[in-house]
Amino acid sequence: MYAEVVVDIPSESTKGIFHYSVPCELEDQIKVGSAVLVPFGARKITGYVVGFTDTPDVACVKDIHGIRGDSGLGDELMVLARWMNRYYTCSLGEAIAQMFPSSVRRGRTRPKFESVVNLAISADEAETLITEMECKAPRQAEALRIVLQKGPILSKRLLTNSYGATAGAVRALIAKGILSETEREVLRNPIKKPRGAEKPPPVLTPEQDKAVQTIIKNFDEERKKPFLLHGVTASGKTEVYMRVIEAVLERGKSAIVLVPEIALTPQMTRDFSERFKEKVAVLHSRLSQGERYDEWRRAGRGDARIVVGARSAVFAPVRNLGAIIVDEEHETSYKQEESPKYHARDVACERARISKAVCILGSATPSVESYYKALNGDYTLLELPYRVENKELPTVEVVDMREELAAGNRSIFSRPLFEAISDRLEKKEQVILFLNRRGYSTFVLCRECGYSMRCPNCDVALTYHAAGNRIRCHYCDFEQPVPSICPNCGGRYIRYFGAGTQKIEGEVKRVFPHARTIRMDTDTTRRKGAHETIVTTFQKGEYDILIGTQMVAKGLDFPNVTLVGVISADTCLNLPDYKAGERTFQLLTQVAGRAGRGEKRGHVVVQTYSPGHYAIEQGTAQDYRGFYDEEIACRSEGGYPPFSRLILVVVSGKNLSEVERHSVSLAKALQTRTRSAKQWKNTKILGPSPCAMSKVKGMHRWQILLKVDPIAGPDDHSNLINDVLKACPVPSYGIMIQVDVDPENIM
Ligand SMILES: [Zn+2]
Ligand SMILES: [Zn+2]
Repeated sequence: MYAEVVVDIPSESTKGIFHYSVPCELEDQIKVGSAVLVPFGARKITGYVVGFTDTPDVACVKDIHGIRGDSGLGDELMVLARWMNRYYTCSLGEAIAQMFPSSVRRGRTRPKFESVVNLAISADEAETLITEMECKAPRQAEALRIVLQKGPILSKRLLTNSYGATAGAVRALIAKGILSETEREVLRNPIKKPRGAEKPPPVLTPEQDKAVQTIIKNFDEERKKPFLLHGVTASGKTEVYMRVIEAVLERGKSAIVLVPEIALTPQMTRDFSERFKEKVAVLHSRLSQGERYDEWRRAGRGDARIVVGARSAVFAPVRNLGAIIVDEEHETSYKQEESPKYHARDVACERARISKAVCILGSATPSVESYYKALNGDYTLLELPYRVENKELPTVEVVDMREELAAGNRSIFSRPLFEAISDRLEKKEQVILFLNRRGYSTFVLCRECGYSMRCPNCDVALTYHAAGNRIRCHYCDFEQPVPSICPNCGGRYIRYFGAGTQKIEGEVKRVFPHARTIRMDTDTTRRKGAHETIVTTFQKGEYDILIGTQMVAKGLDFPNVTLVGVISADTCLNLPDYKAGERTFQLLTQVAGRAGRGEKRGHVVVQTYSPGHYAIEQGTAQDYRGFYDEEIACRSEGGYPPFSRLILVVVSGKNLSEVERHSVSLAKALQTRTRSAKQWKNTKILGPSPCAMSKVKGMHRWQILLKVDPIAGPDDHSNLINDVLKACPVPSYGIMIQVDVDPENIM
């Protein structure tokens, strides 16, 4: 018997399968899906068993050295890995590696042990001994009594620290053979025990009840199409998830709940563990390695039957999967930006299909792709159109920044926003100021009429390049000099935009010197626990103004916030990305959901140079369907998803001319190949052109964007890409190629 092993080294020469012999002593443990330690060249590395064979491909086969982690993946996850291997054109080793915690991959799994004492004699004998020892050795008698009451197996630490036995007495009892001492594993549990009285589950609204019943009925009838649960903010989606999970557990199955990393607050895990107690395991990046490893094993052993986690929890090794829930399915953080560049929502749908589980995608602002699928019958649409406590939505005021300029106000605060902030500071109410996360891309806009420069071919915003003072489309490489006079109105106030949170914070401090401000963005939340600290101190009212990026919008509850200001909706609207409109609509909806969560009604001020854009109009009106209808028409016009599948190929390297040359030859090879085959006749190839972020960490980046027919299956597009990459090998060691299927960001 020989094992077929793949390794997790992302290079062309290591993509294949390697054969190793299985030593006798490991024969029972090694299965398909096991992580193993294998010699590889001069090194020892982690590999994954993908099959077995009788005939090895080399004469001298080396032995597998050992096994890593105590359980393998199981058949269903292996099927999923093979699907990822094809769909995302990553290597099988890369796909499987995603499914193990990094501690297993690096061989740093250290279970934690504790000493336990065990009664080594019968209970009757112990009773007699206690009476005998009462006078001569009262402490030993006491220790033995505790073991009788709480034992018979008891943690030594608990016995001495919490129950008051003395260490000397315990030692003496062990020496006499009355107690025996052994080691046992303790699982590190990251979930804090909920404090306070348990809340009874709320009564469902008729809409919630209907959604729950529909999902459960479908589950029982095994007609397993994914559900799209479209519920406005605060409509009670989480309660629907919990009821479905209850039903799934009753039927002997397990569940996975995915939430965006940033929404995975202690609040969220507390809600789940309050309802489901120790059946819950959590998996996210803020856990220690040990906690992650233990939670992962609890899921694999079936001790935890609900896994709540971020993106990678989609691979949790739960047995008997009955339901996968993807909350906030439109969130970009579900897309992994490193290879393999998978999207957890799409992986969840595939995993549910393989395991015949029910899949629920929930959102207040579903992605255009998911809503399209729901309208076309690929998903079942469920709607929760009302807020649970019927709290009023906040009032939204759109401020036209062109008018502010015309009135002589050049500050970043419009007059209405300035007045609203001053008013809240006076009333001791709190304010959130929003900024779009991606401040780094610069676009060009006329401050007099709001006209922004867009590509005539691709309808995406053009990005400003200081070198040569030009603006450029990074999809198709269209470029032109920055006009000095607005082509729309002849105005002279053409400006580059792209301010960061830090700059805004400076402005706020200058204009409102007495306000206590705090900033929340990727810089200030890098440290472990920093995010929670900012949230709790702001909740406690230690600050007046919170300045932040999208991350403050996610699932947080600030009852004393009555004003939310969006500094510039245009930074989102003018992202050089075909999804800019969708992102803007999502941002406005989330923002509106943050204001007025308490008793007082909230107010939102949105500053923009394009008040007439449909994403801003429908976002202000909170009209998802209205937005969708406009957006889907644009997508159809431009041939963007869901009307095509995008594949982004990025070539990067230190030497610019080499990067450019190789991009050109890849694009040519793609042209030739797609032109000759019938299934690719609708394929469009944009580029090569420099990426919007054309240089990152000293590496020049060029891109080719493919729009392929969405009907093409994963085998088709991965064959196309792999063939072309093989036909055009990289010219030198310094050139890197990354393939991103269904990219979330084309930057
Ligand atoms: Zn203008
Ligand atoms: Zn273009």
